[in-house]
Amino acid sequence: MRGSVSSSVSRRATAPLLTDPVGTVYGVGEKRAVALATEGIETVEDLLLHIPRLYMDRRVLLPIARIAPDTEATVLGTVRKTGVIPGRPGRFEMMLGDDTGFLKCTWFGDKWMRGLRNRFAPGDLIMVSGKVSFFNGKQIVTPEYDILNDKDDDTLHTGRVIPVYRSSAGLREAGLDSRGFRRIVKPLLDRLGSDIEESLPDAVRLAAGLSSRAEALYTAHFPQTPEEAERARARLAYDELFYMELLLALRKHRAEHTASGIVFQEKSPLARRFVETLPFALTAVQKRAIREIHGDMCRPRPMNRLLQGDVGSGKTVVAAIAMLLAVETGYQATLMAPTEILAEQHALVLRAFFDPLDVPVTLLVGGLPARERQRRHEQTATGSARIVVGTHALIQQEVAFHRLGLAIIDEQHRFGVAQRALLREKADATPDMLVMTATPIPRTLALTVYGDLDVSILDALPPGRKPIATTWIPEAKWDAIYQVLKTEIDRGRQAYIVYPLVDESEKTDLKAATDMAEKLQRETFPDLRIGLLHGRMKGNEKDAVMRAFKAGDYHILVSTTVIEVGIDVPNATVMVVEHAERFGLAQLHQLRGRIGRGEHASQCVLVNGYDPDKPIPDDALRRLQVMTETQDGFRIADEDLKIRGPGEFFGTRQSGLPGLKIADVLRDETLLQSARQAAFDLVAQDSRLTRPAHRLIRGVLARRYADVAAWVEV
Ligand code: ADP
Ligand code: MG
Repeated sequence: MRGSVSSSVSRRATAPLLTDPVGTVYGVGEKRAVALATEGIETVEDLLLHIPRLYMDRRVLLPIARIAPDTEATVLGTVRKTGVIPGRPGRFEMMLGDDTGFLKCTWFGDKWMRGLRNRFAPGDLIMVSGKVSFFNGKQIVTPEYDILNDKDDDTLHTGRVIPVYRSSAGLREAGLDSRGFRRIVKPLLDRLGSDIEESLPDAVRLAAGLSSRAEALYTAHFPQTPEEAERARARLAYDELFYMELLLALRKHRAEHTASGIVFQEKSPLARRFVETLPFALTAVQKRAIREIHGDMCRPRPMNRLLQGDVGSGKTVVAAIAMLLAVETGYQATLMAPTEILAEQHALVLRAFFDPLDVPVTLLVGGLPARERQRRHEQTATGSARIVVGTHALIQQEVAFHRLGLAIIDEQHRFGVAQRALLREKADATPDMLVMTATPIPRTLALTVYGDLDVSILDALPPGRKPIATTWIPEAKWDAIYQVLKTEIDRGRQAYIVYPLVDESEKTDLKAATDMAEKLQRETFPDLRIGLLHGRMKGNEKDAVMRAFKAGDYHILVSTTVIEVGIDVPNATVMVVEHAERFGLAQLHQLRGRIGRGEHASQCVLVNGYDPDKPIPDDALRRLQVMTETQDGFRIADEDLKIRGPGEFFGTRQSGLPGLKIADVLRDETLLQSARQAAFDLVAQDSRLTRPAHRLIRGVLARRYADVAAWVEV
């Protein structure tokens, strides 16, 4: 088989090009082409990149009698009977037999039923692979399987390492199950032979010890051994990662070399005075971040920096100092936050910081009275507003700055690249950009999502923070919870009770929060003051409640997740989260970050609101466990990534990067680092990609990444 790669030197006249529509592939008619297109497979190349999701190693077939529980095994047998077990809906079984015994194959869950019922018939010859367990006999749960009734292409399907393809109901209907894929991909590869264009420059490919693209594609589909398959996959993954990093490298290079930025003045008496007024000393990591930012701002190239720091790590002070540097040189600075309440909170904090320095802070949010909005727009346009804090309202068309020099974005992951760009466009010269995030992203992901930014990390909290004791209770034992609340409040502390509100239109959850606040006030704590905060309140109402809570006027704040970001009340030491199982890990971490901000020890109680008769889903259980085990944002982010997978982790799409089909940033961290190094080195040497050896890169960019590469202007 391998021979075909090198032996078919001459491509037959009919062999398709990689860019040809998938319909030109032998065996793909109109119906299949449509089914493939709905899965994003539109060209010959797409089809080749639809590599197997796993391989069954059928070089070793065992008789059923010889397979042992807790091992992976592949078995060939005939179907004896199939069906749903009476009284046990949601469970489909198939009994398989060979000369030596029986093996039960079991599938759980309704999603399987429809498809499986009619798939197997008694007498079918089937190969299954999977982990053997023992439950009233030998069993494999959710096996990989292959129906081998017709033997015309034995060599493709048996006795070797067999590719298993991702399929879908639509694809299967068009005959493209795993087996169907094998039948169209094999002849295609044989026809293309070595005539598949290389996509990596030789120097890059050889330095990384990678095979040719032609060989990798062939081997990824039809390997001799699983190890060979993995090497081929790695080569294709490297390819994707290299181009993604190349785009980042080009974007970064362009930002640094074509735009001329502002050179801010080096000395800042304002910033110095500010630091002297602070009631605390800056931490070493804050100082380091400030030095890095200051260095960027004094240089002629525009700053593009990410300030990453866990909740409570003290990013605001760092941002404030950057703003003073801008103001001192005669520029305006702006800070954009994702929610009104957070923008308001920032304005409050910054006013407290800057009033003594006579630097005015202007707030721009939606829903201001027309006249007031007009006034603030004017102040922004004439430059009398030196520091403008706001929400998306800042990037509205009507907003113009007199002389914007520094743009800061808080909770950057909630905005997209487009919004970052809009904010940047508010300035005549290219302003310096600082984006802040409290979502500690694992290093690997940072390299991709923020791959074109310089990064400053606040990796230590200010001193004196007490750890937060976190517990989760399977069902609401409210008496015990009330006791905790009472004890802390008697000591002079305050508490949050948080309700999930997935979507602000979810009336029932809102009602739960409102009812809870009323009930607490009426029945449980008639002598205490209970506040209520939710997303449907008007900006000024929310503001009033927050101020009151911060001033200590409420003992308990019942709230929806509007408090998730940025709220800072160091005297609050208890947080009770209702229906904690409904929250994501990152969100729980953010919420919990609202306590443990002062000198007192804090407690977080996660309440599982699940029906006690129903088992709690594994994912939710895992999240709650992680929360009780650690407070380390990086560990939590890692776990989150494992539970959710990188695709969903957070708006990777928003990052404006090409999607990854083969590479997996978690699993391929080493590859990613090596691809990144190679890409950045290449751009450093030949930023316009004019060397002959790099012509092929331009070709790939134009062909594969036309949509995302436009802004690179190579
Ligand atoms: P975040 O990074 O979550 O935005 P903040 O900037 O809100 O964190 O800071 C959290 C709290 O820590 C605030 O009350 C802030 O005043 C305080 N803080 C910041 N820096 C220090 C420091 N160096 N020493 C003590 N407290 C600090
Ligand atoms: Mg903050």
